[in-house]
Amino acid sequence: MSAITVPDGTSRAPLDPSKLVIKLAEVLNAVPEEPVLGRTMTDHMLICEHDPVKGWEAPEIRPYGPLTLLPTANILQYGGNAFEGLKAYVGPDGRPRLFRVEKHMERFARGARRASLPDIEPTAVIELLKRLIAVEARWVPDKPGYGLYIRPTIISTRPYLGLGPSEHAILYIILTPAAPFLGAGRPIALYAEDQHVRAWPGGTGEYKMGINYAGIIGPQAEVQLRGYDQTLWLFGPDRCITEAGIMNFFVVLRREDGDFDLLTPPLDGTILPGITRRSLLELADAHTTGLTTLSGLPVHRKIHTHEVVVTMPQLRTWAEQGTLQEVFCVGTAVIVVPVGRIWFEGEDVNVLRRVQGDADVSTSASECVSSALRDRLVAIQEGRVNWAGWSVAVDEL
Ligand SMILES: *Cc1c(COP(=O)(O)O)cnc(C)c1O
Repeated sequence: MSAITVPDGTSRAPLDPSKLVIKLAEVLNAVPEEPVLGRTMTDHMLICEHDPVKGWEAPEIRPYGPLTLLPTANILQYGGNAFEGLKAYVGPDGRPRLFRVEKHMERFARGARRASLPDIEPTAVIELLKRLIAVEARWVPDKPGYGLYIRPTIISTRPYLGLGPSEHAILYIILTPAAPFLGAGRPIALYAEDQHVRAWPGGTGEYKMGINYAGIIGPQAEVQLRGYDQTLWLFGPDRCITEAGIMNFFVVLRREDGDFDLLTPPLDGTILPGITRRSLLELADAHTTGLTTLSGLPVHRKIHTHEVVVTMPQLRTWAEQGTLQEVFCVGTAVIVVPVGRIWFEGEDVNVLRRVQGDADVSTSASECVSSALRDRLVAIQEGRVNWAGWSVAVDEL
């Protein structure tokens, strides 16, 4: 690892996994039968500080516990941070594996850069994460549908009031076991928002930065009081659909030739470039080009993928015309969740997949694109199906 030379001629140490220090907890917690995502934390965390003069200090694995920050720390004042969310799964061979970890860590590094925080080398973070998971291996649940959720985070500890790029930072990784998403499979209700905006062109919506989330807590809570699960975030006078809650959004349309169109909004800066989103588009393409056949769909039934603008009025028209087959939301935490109805302009639009009447026999009512995609994705994540190196055992990374 070579040191990083800064413009004034001095050099700072890069993030260096070979300097890792491990301080194990004296007492280990029992792993609960039913863990609660985000509340049940594992025994240890990984932590590393960046100093403006020395650069990255030696990373440490130490017992999970509080951080010490000055009240001026920029994370507390201006929200300077970036984070990631990914999962480890136990494969049939009993070994923990990570899903598309390089993609997650590249996105993490982009977020840190956008937040004007020190550079993070994705390969170094992956190496450190491997060491952390090796220490916490007993926390990776081995039941189907369960996983270990991983939250890498970098925060600005710049200890002065006033805005400025920060060479004071703390990088940490915390782990929390995840049970299958509550109510998995039950269609959720969305509320198309016309008062608030989650992200806008030129903003920071395409990064996992804490500032994008602080502002949507209130609006989301209001929507839940009205009996809806998540907000559907619209943008602009055309009411373009962007995301639902903090998930990417997909639409399936039935074509006259019996094939499917799979639509999701393009990455125009207002959309978080989800790894689940990308993976599902790639799996749909693989089915269509014949690289694989998704179970539940006939070989000849193609899924044509489109990264295109979808407006809420358009979606309502498709629902009324009956071309709309499915609406679903995706992300690492939920994987795939179907949508049942969307409140828009004073009433609920029913977007539940209709059972086909006799007017159309080209598409079987049992063909469900979202479940075919979800089943394959989960099989890959859990290591039951090998695909394109997406899921790699931690000891082989
Ligand atoms: C994390 C996130 C997603 C989903 O991304 P994945 O990489 O699939 O987990 C979608 N939207 C928002 C706003 C997010 O924060």
